[in-house]
Amino acid sequence: MATGEVLTGLGVGLTAVKAEVFRVKPHQDLPGPTKHSGDAAGEIDKLRAAIDAVSQELQTLAAKAGETSAEIFEALEMILMDESLFDTAVAEVESGWDAATAFHNGVETFAELLSGDPTFEERLADIRDLAKRVAANIHGISLGLNLPEEGRFVIVGEDFSPADTAQFTKAVVGVVTIAGGPTSHTAIICRSKSIPAVVSCKGAKNLVDGVEVLVDPVGDRVVIGGSDSDATQAITFVAKSSEPIIPVRANIGSLEDAVAAATTAAEGVGLFRTELLYLSSSSQPTVDSQSKSYAEILSAAPDGPIVVRTIDAGSDKPVPFLEMPHEENPALGVRGYRLIGQHRQFILDQLLALEEARQKSGREVWVMAPMIALASEAAEFASLAREVGQFKVGIMVETPSIIFELAKLASVVDFVSVGTNDLSQYLFASDRMNPNLGAMLNPWQPALIAALEAIATEAKKVGIYSGVCGESASDPAFSVVLAGLGFDSVSSSRSQVGAVRTALSAISMEEAKGISEKVRMASTSDEAKSVALAELGKLSG
Ligand code: PEP
Ligand code: MG
Repeated sequence: MATGEVLTGLGVGLTAVKAEVFRVKPHQDLPGPTKHSGDAAGEIDKLRAAIDAVSQELQTLAAKAGETSAEIFEALEMILMDESLFDTAVAEVESGWDAATAFHNGVETFAELLSGDPTFEERLADIRDLAKRVAANIHGISLGLNLPEEGRFVIVGEDFSPADTAQFTKAVVGVVTIAGGPTSHTAIICRSKSIPAVVSCKGAKNLVDGVEVLVDPVGDRVVIGGSDSDATQAITFVAKSSEPIIPVRANIGSLEDAVAAATTAAEGVGLFRTELLYLSSSSQPTVDSQSKSYAEILSAAPDGPIVVRTIDAGSDKPVPFLEMPHEENPALGVRGYRLIGQHRQFILDQLLALEEARQKSGREVWVMAPMIALASEAAEFASLAREVGQFKVGIMVETPSIIFELAKLASVVDFVSVGTNDLSQYLFASDRMNPNLGAMLNPWQPALIAALEAIATEAKKVGIYSGVCGESASDPAFSVVLAGLGFDSVSSSRSQVGAVRTALSAISMEEAKGISEKVRMASTSDEAKSVALAELGKLSG
């Protein structure tokens, strides 16, 4: 690859980094199905030892990974230690298979038995990864990334799983992935650890060890042999006012998040994802236990209103205790508020627990329902919530259909909050989990910006407060566009609250409107972003 060659992708972060490429090697192949030589008891011992070792491995990875991934590892460990899975594997050993093959077969039998259960199907990839880890342990094959501990490297790979990102060492100063998108696990982890990254960078498949590259996230590119001076300058926003032009709130999902968000300048919480508390609960939490957890979180949250979302289970967020029918296409299935059909009592209990927590904590609580597609659903939710508690009541705008019904929500809901992660998924018919469709999920896509404009304008017209809480509101430049389009607040991931606040304190509302006006004319996501950055650059420079 020639010096100066540019590989395009999607940038994560605001600073560029230059370092040598370290190409993460694909794992060594595992042996195929094998029979043992007759010592079934010996194989069962081997299996038990391997499961214990993998369990240790997961605990070490969980500790390294930190809180962002902790629940993922807890859920994996529960599956690994499942007794009926172990018993099935033992029966396989007794029928002649060696320990690794037996565990693999056990996993597959388990899969067949439980096929039709969407909760399990969501986890199939994870459990298959566990079978791989158990087999690797038995055969002495390392699934480690073998990353250098010393030096400075840009690591390059297809995409990185939670177990992979947990292994990032301090020598990892930049990350490039061939697949993945702006909401992929790699992007989330790099954003939270402030590691510059470019994801969805197809050209990176040809990068080899030792090549010097500049990871230039602001420019959405990797430059071969590029120097620091080639980096696209992130706009250095200089706050002109002590207050942003619209409030910046924080997104949270746990007590730890609430405590950490309170150390930022966030004005309250714009999205409390309640389902994150229950992703690994196998039994339904009682009203009392919910009310206790919510009250702790509400009390710890930063000053200002707290927007709580009722459970958004299903699809990418399976909650074990809420049984759901098998679905071919869970993202288009019964998720979010649609659970009211089968799990009405859970939603009512949640509202009740939130009202108790509101009273205990004395905080201002707004509640909203996810995945609302019809005005009638919004009206139903609003009347349930108002019956139970003294909340401001709203809905998330995540489906294109509800955009066309906003006028009917006047005097029905107090506010709407746009979930751009799902709105992009449904607007562009692009699975948010599909690593090959990252470009469609880029918030600078002109069609998303047009949809956002329609939402902010219509909400204002009918007197409904509007905010944005999807990942797009964590991008300082994009948050300026959101303010200019007419949104009343944004809610960012807590690591970005400071940067978003500074950007929104560096411009006037008139300037933000001018920028949004120009951005709306762009024909491509690249053009939209470069127009915004150029305009912001003029103002800051
Ligand atoms: C969204 O869809 O943008 C959103 C904020 O909700 P979640 O990412 O939790 O689905
Ligand atoms: Mg969503």
